[in-house]
Amino acid sequence: MQDVTDDPVSAGGGPGRPPAELLRRLRARHACDPVTHVERVAARPGEPAPWPAWAPEELRAPFARRGVVAPWRHQTEAAELAYAGQHVVVATGTASGKSLAYQLPALATLLADPRATVLYLAPTKALAADQLRAVAGLELEGVRPACYDGDTPRAEREWIRRHSRFVLTNPDMLHHGILPGHAHWSGFLRRLAYVVIDECHTYRGVFGSHVAHVLRRLRRQCGRSGRVSSPALAGSRHTPVFILASATSGDPAAAAGRLTGLPVTAVTEDTSPRGGVTFALWEPPLLPPDASASAVDLAPVRRSALRETADLLADSVVEGVRTLAFVRSRRGAEVVAANARRALDEAVPGLGERVAAYRAGYLREERRELERALLHGDLLGLASTSALELGVDLVGLDAVLICGWPGTRASLWQQAGRAGRSGDEALAVLVARDDPLDTYLVHHPEALFGRPVEATVLDPANPYVLAPQLACAAFEAPLTPADLELFGEGAKEAVDSLVEAGALRQRPTGWYWRHRERPDVDLRGEDGAPVCVVEASTGRLLGTVDGGSSHFLLHPGAVYLHQGVSYVVDSLDLADGCALVHAEEPDWSTHARDVTSLSVVSVRSYVDAGPVGLFLGEVDVTSQVVSYQRRRIATGEVIDTRPLDLPARELRTVAVWFTLSPESLALAGVESADVPGGLHAAEHAAIGLLPLIATCDRWDIGGLSTALHPDTEAPTVFVYDGHPGGAGFAERAYGTAAAWLRATRDAIAECGCEAGCPSCVQSPKCGNGNNPLSKPDAVRVLDVVLDNLPPAANIADERGAAPDRAHGDAPDARGAAPDSAAGGRPGERGAAVPRQDERSPERSVSEGQAALETG
Ligand SMILES: [Zn+2]
Ligand SMILES: [Zn+2]
Repeated sequence: MQDVTDDPVSAGGGPGRPPAELLRRLRARHACDPVTHVERVAARPGEPAPWPAWAPEELRAPFARRGVVAPWRHQTEAAELAYAGQHVVVATGTASGKSLAYQLPALATLLADPRATVLYLAPTKALAADQLRAVAGLELEGVRPACYDGDTPRAEREWIRRHSRFVLTNPDMLHHGILPGHAHWSGFLRRLAYVVIDECHTYRGVFGSHVAHVLRRLRRQCGRSGRVSSPALAGSRHTPVFILASATSGDPAAAAGRLTGLPVTAVTEDTSPRGGVTFALWEPPLLPPDASASAVDLAPVRRSALRETADLLADSVVEGVRTLAFVRSRRGAEVVAANARRALDEAVPGLGERVAAYRAGYLREERRELERALLHGDLLGLASTSALELGVDLVGLDAVLICGWPGTRASLWQQAGRAGRSGDEALAVLVARDDPLDTYLVHHPEALFGRPVEATVLDPANPYVLAPQLACAAFEAPLTPADLELFGEGAKEAVDSLVEAGALRQRPTGWYWRHRERPDVDLRGEDGAPVCVVEASTGRLLGTVDGGSSHFLLHPGAVYLHQGVSYVVDSLDLADGCALVHAEEPDWSTHARDVTSLSVVSVRSYVDAGPVGLFLGEVDVTSQVVSYQRRRIATGEVIDTRPLDLPARELRTVAVWFTLSPESLALAGVESADVPGGLHAAEHAAIGLLPLIATCDRWDIGGLSTALHPDTEAPTVFVYDGHPGGAGFAERAYGTAAAWLRATRDAIAECGCEAGCPSCVQSPKCGNGNNPLSKPDAVRVLDVVLDNLPPAANIADERGAAPDRAHGDAPDARGAAPDSAAGGRPGERGAAVPRQDERSPERSVSEGQAALETG
């Protein structure tokens, strides 16, 4: 590892510094200690196990040459199960060697049976390319591993289909290329022994639900193509064996079972050796009151997590410590890199070059160059979005900074796992943002450490996923009644709806796709095609932004950051998917505002709790980016607000909502003038705390509150999934409502601020500029709800499975309405637009906005 000990500022620094000492030095720079908790995660010795008896010498030898003397016990356990024909998921920590667990049975089978084939699926092309290098490097005869994805030249495709026996691809290519062209693949699929699904925890929410059905389509084609001949697979003739690799997650067997539709055995005990990690929870200090006096809204109360992370990154680089900072948004990553660079250059001109930003939107060559530079030590600091989480093999990091709660404990450990991979002691720091959940967590370490990580939530029964997937399946081959069983709950209803819509025709032999073209279905969801960002003067492609975020990031006049360089958008052409920009560095940042309205479509389930009602149901959400603010970067001062002309976007989704009777609020001491502020503040905090129980993150969900909603005729707080048809989050919230709202109430009440702050009731993505908000009334509102709601409102099962989806259960909305809290009226749109609020998920946008005004 290289270091910067030649530089004057790093005298006394250098590699090999014990993490406790590094932490001490980082803390020492602050007047009051920002560390709220230090957890020491002990080192662990490895537990080797013998090679499986069936693994031939020609397979062991190349591993031995790489230094694998013997597998770890969990690798052998998983490999033995898979070789015996059981579907298995290995769910262990970062760098625990999950790949050997699937490589052993898969490759041993390919060596033993010269006809057998293996299909490997990775969520990203980069990961598949890494895996290809690893398998090809074993130089096994007759395996001929090959990547088959969108980048594969046409000329090579046929060779791969005919000759490769280890094909590496991704779910999108399986969906768009391999399954629709299954006739070309029948030989490969007929002989398919194993399907390897790497990083399977990434298949969650709507995307995960789509992938679940792509896998069912794959199983269907394998069954149609014939029998698997491998002797190892006797007893499972019609289905290849699925081997899944997952980051540590709660109940991985159930999640893998939901993903594949098959019974899956889990191997979860990590027996690989691990270096110790010192894990610090870090709360940025409060700013002196006058520093933020000029900001109109979102007054920064604490120093921004981005600034704090940038400083920690710069300090670590000065110490010669190779450090990776994870930042949630792409903007945030660029701001952190730019600020760290500036600080380093001020200390030692030129030192700033040792820090860079990394995110998924960069072009492939840029990403490879950054990875290479960090591996070789040309770079010492990298600020990254979670793009790096996915298996890109960066080793030897001494410290990991996590800027803001990454959304799940699973992600937290995945990111922290980047530190100390070489077996050395390492440092991990979670830097809290001004956010109720972050604040709650840095003061409740028991919610982070020594607790199982969350389960991965996906909902294959989502009709918005199931119907298009069944259309794809019918295009590939007519659907039969047996297929409906394969696709599971809701499949019959979805097929009926497709027949009714004229997409399928029913014949005695099954359901037939009626069109010539194949259905146009995007696994990645509804956000539309990515928008290219092009520099107008040179025609240079700077990067891409997903379609949904483009309204917020690339509207005309928006300030767009790329590698720390600032651009201003001249025009956005949504039809062509292109934004033209020019380089310019104004001293303001831009913040898009949207208007949201919501109407109740139907009630799926409800709890009648006297003056309080709790509901789960379908809603229509309409949102439109209507204006943007320009704010001074230094002070957060609003310069002006400018109108925008962008189309509205519609979303039918699932929401959880609660209503309260005006009388109960009055009785609790909430003046009627304060009802909107109390509800609004409760809504913000409830959205902030939902990820604690619902495996989503704040940016997956939206909300709206109003003192009188036309559909409920009562004071109401809505929280909805930001994905068409829902993704299971609102259902989980409904099922654990008492625990969720209790944590929300406590987070608000325990916050040390006077009148509400971003750590409790303010929201960085509020469409209303955080106005009105009333912190004390939010506590009163939630107390009324909690006093009335039966604790049995914790009705979800442990795995967060969706409650019964049967629509027959839910009485019609009007009938469901308790006296004080009316349900929705199907088909009636809210005429009076309620106070607009939280927009749905632009997960990367708003955090960047919030941070920019203080950074
Ligand atoms: Zn507060
Ligand atoms: Zn709001």
